[in-house]
Amino acid sequence: MCGIVAYVGNKQCQNLLLEGLKRLEYRGYDSAGIATIQDGHIRVVKTVGRVANLEDKLEEVGGVRGTIGMCHTRWATHGGVTDPNAHPHTDDKSGICLIHNGIIENYASLKTYLEEKGHKFQSQTDTEVLAMLIGELYSPSEGVDLEAAVQAALREVTGAYGIVVMCDKEPDTLVAARKGSPLMVGVGNGEYLVASDGSAVVSHTSQAFALEDYQVVKLTPKGFRTSTIHNVPVTPKIQQLEIELESIELGAYSHFMQKEIFEQPKCLSNTFRGRIDTRDGKVVLGGLASFAKELTRAKRVILLGQGTALHAAMIGEYLMEDLAKVCAVAEYASEFRYRNPIIEENTVAIAVSQSGETADTLAALQEAKDRGALALGVINVVGSTMARETDAGVYLRVGPEIGVASTKAFVGQVAVLTLVSIFLGRRRFMSADQCAEVLKALETVPDKIQRILEHDAKIKSVTERYIDRENWLFLGRGYNYPTALEGALKLKEISYIHAEGMPAAEMKHGPIALINEGMPAVFIANRGRQYEKVISNIQEVKARGGRIIAVATEGDEQIKRHADDVFYVPDIPEALSPMLTVIPLQLMAYHAAVLRGHDVDKPRNLAKSVTVE
Ligand code: GLU
Repeated sequence: MCGIVAYVGNKQCQNLLLEGLKRLEYRGYDSAGIATIQDGHIRVVKTVGRVANLEDKLEEVGGVRGTIGMCHTRWATHGGVTDPNAHPHTDDKSGICLIHNGIIENYASLKTYLEEKGHKFQSQTDTEVLAMLIGELYSPSEGVDLEAAVQAALREVTGAYGIVVMCDKEPDTLVAARKGSPLMVGVGNGEYLVASDGSAVVSHTSQAFALEDYQVVKLTPKGFRTSTIHNVPVTPKIQQLEIELESIELGAYSHFMQKEIFEQPKCLSNTFRGRIDTRDGKVVLGGLASFAKELTRAKRVILLGQGTALHAAMIGEYLMEDLAKVCAVAEYASEFRYRNPIIEENTVAIAVSQSGETADTLAALQEAKDRGALALGVINVVGSTMARETDAGVYLRVGPEIGVASTKAFVGQVAVLTLVSIFLGRRRFMSADQCAEVLKALETVPDKIQRILEHDAKIKSVTERYIDRENWLFLGRGYNYPTALEGALKLKEISYIHAEGMPAAEMKHGPIALINEGMPAVFIANRGRQYEKVISNIQEVKARGGRIIAVATEGDEQIKRHADDVFYVPDIPEALSPMLTVIPLQLMAYHAAVLRGHDVDKPRNLAKSVTVE
């Protein structure tokens, strides 16, 4: 949520900041704003809408100049989507300018205190309160410079923040700090960038470090200093950013979501590379090797996630029980963390998250860890907060995911959870031969996804036929019950069509009342243990006028007697099927959104990487 980019150095920074901000626009797009120090004064330009709107406004006002500056795309939490609420925010006393990602939870009491001191607020945001507080504390004559004022203000704050601050009285200084919301510092030659993630930094420098919670960095063209909010110096670990520019550019595709759907075969080949050993029937996961003993002893696995990652975690629950024979449960991280969970000995908690920054999942993982669980991560973004806070983990290796609706990360998460389940199963009871058999099937997944993608045109034309329907059902059983949830979520997120996903058997316990003439019901009806049962559920919907779209196994001719439309997926063992059956659902959602004229990569009200609770 929210994109932050800031620069200090010797270059004119307006275009460089905007270029970075465009790369982060998927993180929030309610409003956009920029500020520089121009001729000794803070100059702010901001507007509701996209970065493109900001560019138009900048053109109208002749742009901003300066070699120090900051910009922001907002995902509103406090205060409506209006120009005054857009960031950057300034104070009314000390020439402070600030951008913020997160929530200042005690903003109301701080605001009352500041109002009593005579400060006048221009916005309804929690962010402006922080700008005012820093301004109030800023007092160079008493030795409280910008860095010290930021540290002092943050000692008063509860909540989550990634902030960048500048002050017109210290025109070559940027101060950035974080708690909960990610910030990277790109280290160049006589110049520095601060950004919410590495994609906004990488075209300028590949040297970067991540700020940790409660850390503050002061940057000038001459160098930097990192400390805690209590002014204890810390030494950051500068690392090489491993992001290829091509992976964050659209290329020949119309949308990032489309690109990410189509690159899934290549992504999964990366996920599997070097990890599958079919000859010896084993999975090689370097990240877990040193915890193999604890994992083998595990009595219970808790998989934590939100949204799409929770659906992957739910498939993980089936995989763990089926392939590793360990008791497993998938939980909403947001519920788990607040309900006094019981963690017995030999419990493993697995956080599933694309960004590795999801606030709820991070907090739930911490909770499980504090109560004695071994904390593992199934994460995409290398070096993210979760990746740093877990005991061990396995990266997805699917490359940056920019489309707000997650696709390749979902398939990557399921693939990694499959690998982890086999890794565990092999140590617990699976023979090398059994293991080799599943792994051989797993290796075929990328090619099989490719074959499904070749049916894109047909999937589009079927979607077109139902595009005016406002209510859809997605139904599946067993491994493909979470796939049904994921199909419904995809459709909701980007096409704003109401969709419900549920276990096919659950339907007759209530939701069947919703079915009326022509209502589309998508059934995941691939061959598996419950195939016949799914066919019965199809009949129940059909008998009430529903239109059946089935995802079925290649060669299943019988299904055509029951379904109005069929999307075929190649045959594969049931445990691996969600990685295939979800593909037509992703494409349907994509086409539905495009056909309805929505901005697929920036769905309304959403933002990627949910760093607030
Ligand atoms: N809470 C702040 C606001 O509503 C920051 C939101 C963000 O992270 O974009 O303005």
